[in-house]
Amino acid sequence: MKRFLVRPRTKMDLSRQNPRDTGPFNGGKKEGLAQLARVTEELVELQRLLYAEHGPRLLVVLQAMDTAGKDGTIRHVFGPLNPQGVQVRSFKKPTPRELDHDYLWRVHPFVPGRGEITIFNRSHYEDVLVVRVHGLVPEEVWRRRYRHIVEFERLLTDEGTTILKFFLHISKEEQKERLEARLADPTKSWKFSNADLAERQLWPDYMTAYEEVLNRTSARLAPWYVIPSDRKWFRNLAVATIVRDTLQSMKLHYPEPDEDLDGIVVE
Ligand code: AMP
Ligand code: MG
Repeated sequence: MKRFLVRPRTKMDLSRQNPRDTGPFNGGKKEGLAQLARVTEELVELQRLLYAEHGPRLLVVLQAMDTAGKDGTIRHVFGPLNPQGVQVRSFKKPTPRELDHDYLWRVHPFVPGRGEITIFNRSHYEDVLVVRVHGLVPEEVWRRRYRHIVEFERLLTDEGTTILKFFLHISKEEQKERLEARLADPTKSWKFSNADLAERQLWPDYMTAYEEVLNRTSARLAPWYVIPSDRKWFRNLAVATIVRDTLQSMKLHYPEPDEDLDGIVVE
């Protein structure tokens, strides 16, 4: 999965990343789903440890174009975990009260606490993505934000939070099919919004904005991964595997009991 990592200070060209890539899984979906089941079991165990240790924290940021599968990733990858230790926070269009503050004001209260995994469905990155593409603030204002974001995330990692950031990368053709599916299927049409079509027209601008995000804000302790997402099973497997590997590298352990348990008898 290291091939999907955006190495800090490298130049990311999204047009050279294949959204249909399925990594080493030439066997395809069946093999991929079997592997996902194995990784999920390990993830569940690792989360138990994280929760029990009540020390380290994990923040997972999901960013993507519409229909790329932020919701599906949350359901499939994080759904099996103990909900007591997982929080999901979705960031929508800011409210008037949120707009009365700096753009990180609405974000900071929702970062994970000890032992928790928090998933951001969209995030502070919208403030250099949609805000940039639509010119919602002047360029000199959004330009400064890369620095704030790197520093904000540095604060979090310095204080014991591990951060993983995923860009779920779909092709424009795949998005067309998924939008058409939303239009055709009454169980999906609630997700369709005319605004998605307007955003789709701005695809090249979004790719430029995403490339700058990836180039400027991938850090050793808060890395970006570009996940090929045209194949949903591979997207889920890739995210699950990277989260598993990251939790493993955190060297978690169950805390020692408060007292010496030797000789204690439960009547
Ligand atoms: P959805 O994720 O489909 O529910 O849509 C949420 C919408 O909120 C998307 O169109 C985002 O671009 C928009 N959004 C999220 N954060 C911001 C922000 N900081 N400024 C403007 N729009 C935002
Ligand atoms: Mg939407």
